[in-house]
Amino acid sequence: IEVVGAPVINDVKDLKGAVLVFHDITDLKRVEEMRKDFVANVSHELKTPITSIRGFAETLLDDESPDEEVRKQFLTIILKESTRLQSLVHDLLELSKIEKEEMKLNTKLINVDEWLKNSLTLIEQQTQEKSLQFIQEIQPNIHLHGDPDRLQQVLLNLMYNAINYTGSKGTVFLRIKELNNKIEIQVEDTGIGIPKEATQRIFERFYRVDRARSRNTGGTGLGLAIVKHIVEAHQGNISVTSEEGKGSCFTVKIPKKW
Ligand code: ADP
Repeated sequence: IEVVGAPVINDVKDLKGAVLVFHDITDLKRVEEMRKDFVANVSHELKTPITSIRGFAETLLDDESPDEEVRKQFLTIILKESTRLQSLVHDLLELSKIEKEEMKLNTKLINVDEWLKNSLTLIEQQTQEKSLQFIQEIQPNIHLHGDPDRLQQVLLNLMYNAINYTGSKGTVFLRIKELNNKIEIQVEDTGIGIPKEATQRIFERFYRVDRARSRNTGGTGLGLAIVKHIVEAHQGNISVTSEEGKGSCFTVKIPKKW
């Protein structure tokens, strides 16, 4: 709380009292703190791959005659780290676009069956690569109003997480149905799960349960923050239930019309 005070003086310069104004600045402070955290996080996230790209490039240049295998190994790291940088910058731009243009959704009437077809090709390829079982339970002939591209991003981010955080031989479920004038999209996996105390925090930018692991899977820590923004821009909500070692289940509910 910020306090501003001023004395109250009458015509003959007698002190009559004082006025105190109390400002609750906790919200402002929090926003400022979050902004600082965000900048620190971004800088850190960008620094890590840059340091490693520089380091490996310098080593390659210094070494007069690196053998073929070492050269390949270093270049592979450089490629992987620059790809990470690229996804990071991409996700940051996405997030800032979404935050700025939250109201500018390109809303259309979406036929869920058709909308799914496009996204599924990308997903099926990934599930096959990891030999995961992919089970779909889709209610036919349902529609909703929304931005098809943004909602595809929601689906892909949730599905990629389900795939990334589930070992091979696991199962990923995708369920879509209509319930109480809402479209419910559920992505469930039999993967590593999320500790109870982390379930609310995973929607924050850059929050990750296990930094190292998420980096290895190519994660940026921004996927769920983007998902939450898009869902809320559609007047919807997202929730998660999870058990460590058993799996996670994300549920998105979006009003059919808003
Ligand atoms: P990331 O790029 O790290 O995956 P996200 O914002 O998509 O970032 O997710 C934040 C964190 O939430 C992840 O780092 C991971 O710890 C956890 N998480 C998200 N989805 C799952 C899931 N399906 N199973 C287990 N953990 C998950």
